[in-house]
Amino acid sequence: MQIQWYPGHMNKAKNQIQDRLKLVDLVLEIRDARLPQSSTNPVLEQIIKAKQRIIILNKADLADPLMTQQWLRDLQAQQQMALALDAQHTNKLQVIQSAVQELMQAKIQKYQQSGVRNYKLRAMCIGIPNVGKSTILNKLVGKKVAVTGNKPGVTKNQNWLKTTSNLELLDTPGVLWPKIDDEQVGYNLALTGAISDRLIPVQDLAVYALEFWQHEYPDRLQTNYQLTEQELVLPPAKLLVYLTQKWTGNDDFERASRRIIQDIRQGLLGQYTLDRVQVNGE
Ligand code: GDP
Repeated sequence: MQIQWYPGHMNKAKNQIQDRLKLVDLVLEIRDARLPQSSTNPVLEQIIKAKQRIIILNKADLADPLMTQQWLRDLQAQQQMALALDAQHTNKLQVIQSAVQELMQAKIQKYQQSGVRNYKLRAMCIGIPNVGKSTILNKLVGKKVAVTGNKPGVTKNQNWLKTTSNLELLDTPGVLWPKIDDEQVGYNLALTGAISDRLIPVQDLAVYALEFWQHEYPDRLQTNYQLTEQELVLPPAKLLVYLTQKWTGNDDFERASRRIIQDIRQGLLGQYTLDRVQVNGE
């Protein structure tokens, strides 16, 4: 797979985020709930170090709710505060505000004990492109703000955005690149639209998707594409051939592949989670 991330850019983005991290009390790490693993990024663990963090599994409306619960349990078992969110359809992100207060309890107590009243808790959003950082920032702030820089390594002076509570946010989200060191991660990111479609041949992506749905969500595949029991268990490449003939009347594999991918992105094949929680020893 050809993914070009120039080391220079990566270092620049990393350094900028590292600098800005010094200014905040905590990090809101935004991930895509459909990809709780694939939408992480390689250097965050290194640069975040001891900084307090809340992991937000955003776009939970698109993800498989059972899987989201599993992921939350898994993160919480690792003493990591985590929550699921549908930032698109939720107006006030009270759930984030509450989580921040809980996470920062010790600091809040210190302020209170020393009589400081107007204390602020400062945070920054970090995540790979397209996970919903700007949407979350806007909703926390309660109005549309010009979120600056949504490309890795954009330079800007930072401003603090006020929210309805004592939480303040950096107006520049930390944008990191996804870690695509494994083909499956690349496919997962492409299927959700997190990375450009051009990076993977559309037919390969469609076959990957069919195989996943045959394995994980066969009922929906069968109902939506009106498949017989025999068709449902065809090898995925053969199933693509079958669907292509059925839909296009010829061998326009590209058109059929695009339809499958579009159906998935538009939710016609239901809520889905592409990353599975790793069980110990797997
Ligand atoms: P950013 O690149 O991380 O800043 O992501 P954006 O905030 O620009 O969001 C990317 C796209 O995802 C936009 O089209 C949003 O409307 C959409 N989006 C953001 N949050 C959610 C969510 O919770 N659910 C759904 N369905 N879409 C979302």
